[in-house]
Amino acid sequence: MALAEQAKRVADEFEFGKEDVRKAVKEFIREMDEGLQKDGAELSQIPTYVTAVPNGTEKGLYMAVDLGGTNFRVCSIQLHGNTTFSLTQSKVAIPRELMVAKTSKELFSFLAKQIEVFLKTHHEDHYFSHIRRRKTGDQIKEEEIFNLGFTFSFPVQQIGINKGLLMRWTKGFDIQDAVGKDVCALLQAEINELHLPVRVAALVNDTVGTLMARSYTSPGKTGTLLGAIFGTGTNGAYVEKLDKVTKLTSNKDAGDYDKSTGEMIVNTEWGSFDNSLRTLPNTPYDVELDAKSVNPGIQMFEKRVSGMFLGEILRLALVSLLKDPKIPLFRDENSAQNDVHSTTQIHEDSPLWKQWGIDTSFLSICAGDQSPGYRMTRQTLDKDYGITAVSAEDAEAVRVIAAAIGRRAARLSAVAIAAIVIETGRLNSSSTSAATTEKKESVEAPRGEGSSVADKDVIDVGVDGSLVEFYPGFEDHVRQALMEIEEIGEAGEKRIRIGIAKDGSGVGAALIALVAGRVGEDSE
Ligand code: ADP
Ligand code: MG
Repeated sequence: MALAEQAKRVADEFEFGKEDVRKAVKEFIREMDEGLQKDGAELSQIPTYVTAVPNGTEKGLYMAVDLGGTNFRVCSIQLHGNTTFSLTQSKVAIPRELMVAKTSKELFSFLAKQIEVFLKTHHEDHYFSHIRRRKTGDQIKEEEIFNLGFTFSFPVQQIGINKGLLMRWTKGFDIQDAVGKDVCALLQAEINELHLPVRVAALVNDTVGTLMARSYTSPGKTGTLLGAIFGTGTNGAYVEKLDKVTKLTSNKDAGDYDKSTGEMIVNTEWGSFDNSLRTLPNTPYDVELDAKSVNPGIQMFEKRVSGMFLGEILRLALVSLLKDPKIPLFRDENSAQNDVHSTTQIHEDSPLWKQWGIDTSFLSICAGDQSPGYRMTRQTLDKDYGITAVSAEDAEAVRVIAAAIGRRAARLSAVAIAAIVIETGRLNSSSTSAATTEKKESVEAPRGEGSSVADKDVIDVGVDGSLVEFYPGFEDHVRQALMEIEEIGEAGEKRIRIGIAKDGSGVGAALIALVAGRVGEDSE
């Protein structure tokens, strides 16, 4: 059995064609509408109480922290008010054992400790003058307290600008006593225990932060439509017409919000799109991954798209090939092909044999490897995965499967982006004649940031996360799928500008902390 054929067979299982994409877009739009009308739908469509995106003139010094899934970031941000900012940040990996800690205190005290270290390192004067004042009993001045935006990238039922109850954990976290609690209060309690001059002023989903940050920094006057994350997990937030958020407008108990803009940012929680698998692909590897996850049956879209899972899908696909002794993957050529005991070149302690053993960054290495005989891929297999003497054929087989998994993830990502562009009616919002003229002019124009599409026709999308940032060709695959969707086509695809919202969560959280600070001042 030729290895190349077998690899091709597995890669084909990850095919997600034009018709599949179109069907999924229709389902996504249906679920979006359902989620806007009622609670408990597959797409949560959470109202964020943020009713406007920034325009680049905002100013001030703020703090932000970001609990994303893999890392914890602490930063301070100076907004200069001219679409630019300066940012100081530190980042630590979240220890695995804290993700499944017995009590939420273990996790949140760790987070507060990181904030303390950051202040001591980067805002020494501020920190020590505060400590001195506390010791001497001097009055603590309001303006010495940092307003902090807390980016918390898990599903939260937001009940105020700095108040939100954790609905469920995702991305491998599982700390039962935190569910149903206000995560801002949990963080503030630990900050207070350390006597830090910090107030948790705003609770921010990373998608909303990305949307705000992109809107602050993006070129031109057009506000951003969508902020999307492709990191450990995947999710998106977009600008919706207020009167379509009927579950909010009809809810007497809904908190106060500004109705003057006629819009509200909605957090889709699209990681749980199509949990019932009406349109999502479902290979044996997807089935196995889900069955062995901490949350079987939920976050089904996320499990096919995001960084936490793609490496594991690849691992399961490779292990399935290795189970068949007749398939010559990572096997010593000299051993008999049908000998079950034929030795493989894989070390017994190789991460290949362990759940979550392959990191998604390995898919990026495969996709970007242009060295002769795929030297980079082979070296990584050797160095990081304990697989020695990998042949060029082996490397090619791994690459073909990895590429298929990455491509499927990008095409699924396009489903979410397309559905939001279509549902919000942005494609119809500029005159057809203008769009047509632009289309002729921009045939040869570079896409994305450098596009020559007129400012008013641009549909701006801010993205963040290691997958979209580092996986080679991710955006190209997204764009290819966008073009294949009837309602978008080539003309629509050119109007969609996708830009990385660098440091999005930090700046976005600062912008929301700023807005929250204003609300506080008004009511005092
Ligand atoms: P977070 O989601 O915690 O905010 P990131 O956006 O950095 O953090 O995403 C981390 C995820 O991205 C991890 O699942 C990791 O496996 C994956 N990842 C890290 N580096 C790369 C890379 N070069 N290519 C693709 N995925 C990557
Ligand atoms: Mg993130």
